[in-house]
Amino acid sequence: MVELQVTNSPFNQEQVELLNRLIPTLTDGQRLWLGGYIAAFQAGVATAPQTGLALQAEPVPAAGAPVVSREVTVLYGSQTGNSIGLSKKIAKKLEEQGLQVSLSSMGDFKPNGLKKIENLLIVVSTHGEGEPPDNAISFHEFLNSKRAPKLDGLRYSILALGDTSYEFFCQTGKDFDKRLQELGGTALVPRVDCDVDFDEPAAEWMNDVLASLSSTSAATGTVSSEAITAAVSSGESEFNRTHPFKAEVLENLNLNGRGSDRETRHIELSLEGSNLDYEPGDSLGVFPENHPRLVDELIAAMDWKADERVTVNKNGDQLSVYEALLRHYEITAVTKPVVEQLAKLNPESGLAALLADDSEFRNVMNSCDLLDLVQDYSLKGINAGAFLAVLRKIPARLYSIASSSKSFPDEVHLTVRTVRYEARGRERYGVCSVHLAERIQAGDTLPVYIQHNPNFKLPQNPDTPIIMVGPGTGVAPFRAFLGEREEIGAEGKAWLFYGDQHFSTDFLYQTEWQRWLKDGVLTKMDVAFSRDTEQKVYVQHRMLEHSKELYQWLQEGASIYICGDEKKMAHDVHAALITILQQEGGLSPEQAADYMTRLQHEKRYQRDVY
Ligand code: NDP
Repeated sequence: MVELQVTNSPFNQEQVELLNRLIPTLTDGQRLWLGGYIAAFQAGVATAPQTGLALQAEPVPAAGAPVVSREVTVLYGSQTGNSIGLSKKIAKKLEEQGLQVSLSSMGDFKPNGLKKIENLLIVVSTHGEGEPPDNAISFHEFLNSKRAPKLDGLRYSILALGDTSYEFFCQTGKDFDKRLQELGGTALVPRVDCDVDFDEPAAEWMNDVLASLSSTSAATGTVSSEAITAAVSSGESEFNRTHPFKAEVLENLNLNGRGSDRETRHIELSLEGSNLDYEPGDSLGVFPENHPRLVDELIAAMDWKADERVTVNKNGDQLSVYEALLRHYEITAVTKPVVEQLAKLNPESGLAALLADDSEFRNVMNSCDLLDLVQDYSLKGINAGAFLAVLRKIPARLYSIASSSKSFPDEVHLTVRTVRYEARGRERYGVCSVHLAERIQAGDTLPVYIQHNPNFKLPQNPDTPIIMVGPGTGVAPFRAFLGEREEIGAEGKAWLFYGDQHFSTDFLYQTEWQRWLKDGVLTKMDVAFSRDTEQKVYVQHRMLEHSKELYQWLQEGASIYICGDEKKMAHDVHAALITILQQEGGLSPEQAADYMTRLQHEKRYQRDVY
């Protein structure tokens, strides 16, 4: 028999040496018994048998041969595009290892095929308050319904994407894991839950999956965190999330008129020389800086020296405490892993008790920043190096792109509402929006990257009618949609529902919509200015007023797009659509819900909601 080596097996050097010492000492019977035992262990039914006889029927793998099916199904549930990029990466790697891979969105997957699958990989993000992304909803519902089959033969693993600053961190991934286990599935490798900085844990998960599924050398299947970044960023450019492009600011204007309660910045950036390309519906990731006042206050509260040098990454790069807090670390969100680490750094701080009280911790997470935490708990005395080392890297903010690259080659435009509010007697700032509003001018540069979003795309056929619902800054991508349709000379009808507080001060891009209406690029526009009338009026009210025509458009094959607030608006607009289908199509509530699910499967109902 061929001796095991790291190059002809999935084992590392230490394991190879152990196995090479053990295997030649085994009798035929012992080998047979061990082969069966391992196969049963993999299937999750292993109890140490009294004799080998009970398991002798199991196939005995030859060294280096696979024990299991060579077919792998990879399913993704994705809202902003990260899970798609990661799924493609793992699928490619598995194929390179000679495995047969079937890759699909959960939305396109026929769940009655689930029973036949032996190896299943799931890459899924969590959205809103612990909800599945749009294209995972029906699969999630199916698995949790009575129709879900027993899955005793299934081996699966889950890569869950999420954000620890949300209470229901990676909830959808956890739901899938729990349910697949309940249905009889066995974890191939344990689920990995990733925070926003997912490159390294995702690469580790992929390597574990490859090692457990592959019959050839694990070494050839190694995935690096750089490869992950490249996969999710895609495209030809060398610039991506971990290597952002420094884009020059060309324009930074307030779109709101004098007297408005709101401030919305229209920002134009140059992408010249970056080779970055995007399509309508994609987003731009922007790395912001924290507010200098908050940084000063935090340093003062901790009694640190602003110019003390601290190490900020694995390469040993150093920055001053001030610079590190300004540019490198997140100091606004309070996340569980950070609080757990701080509690370890000072066990007397009272943070351990906070962590033990779920509801109090939830309050703190939803309302406090790091400065509040420092002021409320005894954290003074932790040195800057140790404290900063437990913080998250400042995550980029994603904004729906407001321009078509066909109308504005080498440029990208954003529509950003400035977030300012007061809490506990202190003014609070949206990190990125206030950075853009107060401290960025034409000529400055911003680190940016493109986040492709295949889930929010114009119909392939330019003749297809489109209905766009985008109150507030949710209108941003529709400026890109119409710019694109104008450039390509699309013939399809287009209808925009837009709303904000006041007509006179808050009508974003008013003259552009009017021009498009005049030129026929936009067929219809209905507006809802919520605070100009005694009774509030919202976009969904306008949709209901035009229910007959809207239903007609849907019957003609229109695609409908919603962008903006997820918590209330998107739910209310969905409910309005259900009402319209019942009213105009004579459908029951269940039939109307099915109609919307069908639209979603046909990619005719797409949402970019936060
Ligand atoms: P808002 O959504 O706060 O306000 C826009 C208009 O919508 C106002 O007239 C407001 O009325 C109205 N409105 C309030 N509640 C509802 C409701 N239940 N149904 C319909 N309309 C309603 O505008 P912003 O631009 O400040 O914020 C937009 C939201 O969308 C934010 O949550 C933002 O995070 C998100 N967003 C996401 C984007 C993305 O990239 N996907 C892009 C842009 C925004 P009133 O204030 O009078 O109640």
